[in-house]
Amino acid sequence: MIEPRKIRIAIASGKGGTGKTLISTNLFYALQQLNYKVTLIDCDAEEPNVMIFFKGKTLSSMDVTQKVPVIDESKCTYCGKCQEYCSYNAIFLLRDMKIIKTMEDLCHGCGACSVACAYDAITEKDVSLGKIRRFHSALNSSIIEARVRVGVFSPVSVIKAAIKEAGDNEIVLMDSPPGTSCPFIQTVNVADFVILVTEPTPFGLSDLKQSVETLKTLGNSYGVIINRAGLGDKAVYDYLILENIPLLAEIPFDKEIATLYSKGEVVAKYKSEWLPFFETMFKSIYEKYGNGHNQR
Ligand code: SF4
Ligand code: SF4
Repeated sequence: MIEPRKIRIAIASGKGGTGKTLISTNLFYALQQLNYKVTLIDCDAEEPNVMIFFKGKTLSSMDVTQKVPVIDESKCTYCGKCQEYCSYNAIFLLRDMKIIKTMEDLCHGCGACSVACAYDAITEKDVSLGKIRRFHSALNSSIIEARVRVGVFSPVSVIKAAIKEAGDNEIVLMDSPPGTSCPFIQTVNVADFVILVTEPTPFGLSDLKQSVETLKTLGNSYGVIINRAGLGDKAVYDYLILENIPLLAEIPFDKEIATLYSKGEVVAKYKSEWLPFFETMFKSIYEKYGNGHNQR
């Protein structure tokens, strides 16, 4: 085992279903079995599924909240200033009919409406955006799950809180939300290294290109794992060579892997060769990008 140094690795994919969670859960399991102190954060807050693969007691649970305005209609003059200041269309106002409402699910909690109101008609209350739960996992390891409340406009605040909850742990793996929008950016932005998981198909290549372009803009370091290798064509491989992107590993298309995964099983429990396989890949990343590579 190598000496502990800090590293945060995001495991991401341009779309769901490419094997991102297969990689994050098995990498976590392999490191855990090899006595590394590791934390896995399920940042896919709209559809967290890491805990399907692990059994563990809930160690702690906390609400992630946000301030939203409460309008006192006895003080409100329906002047519309708050609506004017709100960049998120979260205040509904029908001035002539003297109707004003806060649309809590659109509110970003910026507080601009409170500042705008000259009539002291706005106070604030806390509303829940979602939950962070920490689960005990064997051997000095834990899993943190971010779960956004249904209807909340964005999971970003809940993801941020989950990443903060991991604190200064030595090895942090982050199962990133799919896509390349704000939740993905929030996750990869704090990573020292991003593992992009793709499959050798035209759809896989198209999504991979989008992810790579986003990571280039953000200035992240990254490499690629090809899942279901042996299916599809060689276009993904050609793209990696053309772009000089490291191919970290290939997971072959295998019915046994697919069956175990679909049953909610950690594949590495049944394929012991996956432990050194993932450790070798991890070490190659760790040696180059560990110890606070990303200062953000
Ligand atoms: S700024 Fe204040 S007074 Fe004016 S509409 Fe909004 S809440 Fe009412
Ligand atoms: S807190 Fe910000 S986002 Fe929410 S209603 Fe007020 S101005 Fe709009």
